[in-house]
Parts: sequence; structure tokens; C-alpha cells
Amino acid sequence: MKTVEVHVVTPDGPVLQEQFEMVIARAKSGELGILPGHIPTVAPLEIGAVRLKKGKTTELVAVSGGFLEVRPDKVTILAQAAERSTDIDVSRARSAKERAERRLQERQDDIDYRRAELALRRAMNRINAVDNK
Ligand code: ATP
Repeated sequence: MKTVEVHVVTPDGPVLQEQFEMVIARAKSGELGILPGHIPTVAPLEIGAVRLKKGKTTELVAVSGGFLEVRPDKVTILAQAAERSTDIDVSRARSAKERAERRLQERQDDIDYRRAELALRRAMNRINAVDNK
């Protein structure tokens, strides 16, 4: 089976660099499935789980937005934050979720409301990545 080299990079450093047979990511334009040899493309990503397939295993990486760059032999994901599901601290994500939900219930200006909405989506994405791993 052919593979493509996947790099997940954040400002804190590399999160993952490995060969996979398929990459499935949620781009702003919809779900993208990438196989080795894919035409070059760049796509902005949603907050979501990137699924990396190799044989019968699927690795999940919780990605907090960012960009996907595809070349025929390499897929690079650049994100502000990204964690492998095995590195996620679920109790931290649950606390972040509760904090964000509380903030959304308070009356706030638009900027704080938007910030809380994004924090909630990041937290739920992390919890889901652990639940689905
Ligand atoms: P929190 O309020 O818990 O910090 P957050 O969504 O504001 O959550 P981010 O700003 O997205 O956090 O990330 C800050 C750093 O902490 C990043 O390096 C990210 O990978 C890491 N991080 C955030 N939440 C978790 C988690 N639940 N488990 C492991 N790492 C996390």
C-alpha cells in the first residue's frame, strides 16, 4: 500500500511526522480524503479531528483549525494547536468545555461570546477525539 508523509506542526513544535495511507480532514469547504499522489492543494481547516489511516488502524489528531497543504508525497497540517488523541488531557478539556458554556450563558460582548464559542468547539473536539479513538 502506498503511503504519504504526514506532518502536523504547531507553533510549539512538531506533533507528528509519520507515513499514512490516507488522510481525512474537515476543510471549511467540506470533508477531504487524501490518498498518496493527490494533486497539490491548500485548504483552511475547521476545528475537528483529522483521521490518519494505516492498515486497520486509524489515528485521530484533534486540530484547532489551521491549514492543510497537500503535495503528492506529503501532507502538512499547520495549526495553532493540535494533539494526538493519546496526548489529550480529558479532564482539562471537560473543564474548558464547562468554562466556555458558563461564559456563553453570561451576557457578553460579541468578541467574548465568539471567543467562548471557539473555546467550546476546541474542547468538544478534544473530548470527541478521545471518545472515538
Ligand atoms: P485550555 O483552556 O484548557 O487551555 P484551550 O482550548 O484554550 O484550552 P489552546 O489555546 O487551544 O487551549 O491550546 C493551548 C496549548 O495547550 C496547546 O499547546 C494545546 O495543544 C494544549 N492543550 C489544550 N487543551 C489540551 C488538552 N485538553 N489536552 C492536552 N493539551 C491541550
